[in-house]
Amino acid sequence: MPRARAKSDPKDEAFYAHLVMRHSSDSVVISDPDRRALWVNPAFSSQTGYTITDMAGKEPGSVLQGRDTSPDAVQAIRNACAKRREIRVDILNYTKSGTPFWVDLRVTPVYDASGRHTHFISTMRDITERKALEQQNEEMRHSEELRQAERHLLALTSEWLYSAKSQDELLMVIQRAMHTLIPEADGALYIYDDARSMLHLATSWGTMPDFPPHMLPDDCWALRRGRAYAYGLKPIQFTCDHVGKGAAPYFCLPIIAHGETIGLLHLVFDGFEEGGLMRHMRDEVLRNRWDISLICGEQISLAVANVRLRQELHDRSVRDPLTGLWNRRWFMERALREVSCAIRDRDCLSLVALDVDHFKSFNDRFGHEAGDAVLRDVGAILQQAGSDSIHPCRVGGEEFTLLLVGHDAEDAASLAESLRQTIAAHRFAMPGLVLPQVTASFGLGVLGRDGQRLEEVMKAADTALYRAKSEGRNRVATTSAGFALPGAEAQAQDEPLGNTHP
Ligand code: GH3
Ligand code: MG
Ligand code: MG
Repeated sequence: MPRARAKSDPKDEAFYAHLVMRHSSDSVVISDPDRRALWVNPAFSSQTGYTITDMAGKEPGSVLQGRDTSPDAVQAIRNACAKRREIRVDILNYTKSGTPFWVDLRVTPVYDASGRHTHFISTMRDITERKALEQQNEEMRHSEELRQAERHLLALTSEWLYSAKSQDELLMVIQRAMHTLIPEADGALYIYDDARSMLHLATSWGTMPDFPPHMLPDDCWALRRGRAYAYGLKPIQFTCDHVGKGAAPYFCLPIIAHGETIGLLHLVFDGFEEGGLMRHMRDEVLRNRWDISLICGEQISLAVANVRLRQELHDRSVRDPLTGLWNRRWFMERALREVSCAIRDRDCLSLVALDVDHFKSFNDRFGHEAGDAVLRDVGAILQQAGSDSIHPCRVGGEEFTLLLVGHDAEDAASLAESLRQTIAAHRFAMPGLVLPQVTASFGLGVLGRDGQRLEEVMKAADTALYRAKSEGRNRVATTSAGFALPGAEAQAQDEPLGNTHP
């Protein structure tokens, strides 16, 4: 369809331009080539509060820009005007009464028919609302990013928490993770002692962690009430007794494993006051940290339960249930490792093997239960002799072996002799039953002297034990390679050591 062509009358055009200028919702300033304002439209006055009387002869920017106006934007406008180039920029302006508002500013140089630069026309559209939305979006994006980073960190942390094999390893992971996840807080993890009467500081973290080494369960609101406690988020609150007076905001979160409270996660936010954080911002940060802390508390609880279960299962697989001593499996693994280390480091290592004498007839006479009581007591005597370098193990029915790391033949002989005497002097008893004296025979094996391999040393200890049995029991014997026992120089090297059987 052919379009009707509008006739253009110059008089009409001037009128229409006049209409646009008067009624445009965008502000317009016309200035001379030196950017001195000559004319402003009504929209400008209603937007900024400035009339032409305020503006005449002034550079519009010098009137409209203020404290938070970007210097870069100002410089960009200046450069463009100097080069008489058009520029479009978002810039923060201020009204006459000082209210900031955002405008989409376009400054256009105007030329006459002969190409002479005559004016600048500045049009400004208020974009305050758009800017507010943009800002809001930006904040949302930022906090979403933060949340994502937190989620990622939490996931990573729980992975680490779950891979911890021992409590020590777990404590190390907790310390690192908490410091990273909640950097504003100093923190501590307290664990109940076996009697459950007190909690001990297991680990702490932060810039200046200063936590008491012990606390009583009754000193903490969270432990008393059985749920997490946040101090500093509500107007009326009471501090826990384990926390100093005039306390900074803090959280207490019970750590629960298999339904039982086993400890307390304590987080203190004492950097806030010095940081000059405004009250409402502080509260917002605290509320956010509270949410994360709750998740952390749960994760730590699960991880502690997990480590304890692992430990229990591991213990069960390497401990003898009757005596609580290490079992044969543990002995073999550990002894192999220690022998390798001793050979590498040219260190001493010895074994003390012991076997209860005439145990079969003891069982026959007094019953299996009495026999068990004897084994338990012998186990306790050996346990007493245990240390970081002496590992007593129950390797068979009434057979025990002590692994002596860093101890030579002399140490082994004197330990065996002292154990022999203690067992022989021990009063074994059961409720309503007086049990007779029980003795044990001992055989020694020494790394180096008896061989370079665990098997050889074990064999030597066994052979020596057999000798002790055959030569009368209740004595300490060594292999034919022999050695001198302190105070036993009078005995022949191959002779059984210790007292003879009565
Ligand atoms: P010897 O002096 O030569 O060592 O004589 P013994 O009777 O102690 O030797 P033997 O190895 O023939 O007997 C070991 C006995 O230990 C046999 C078994 O009934 C007993 N025994 C093994 N394990 C246990 C246990 O866990 N509890 C009890 N009560 N007895 C056990
Ligand atoms: Mg035996
Ligand atoms: Mg025996």
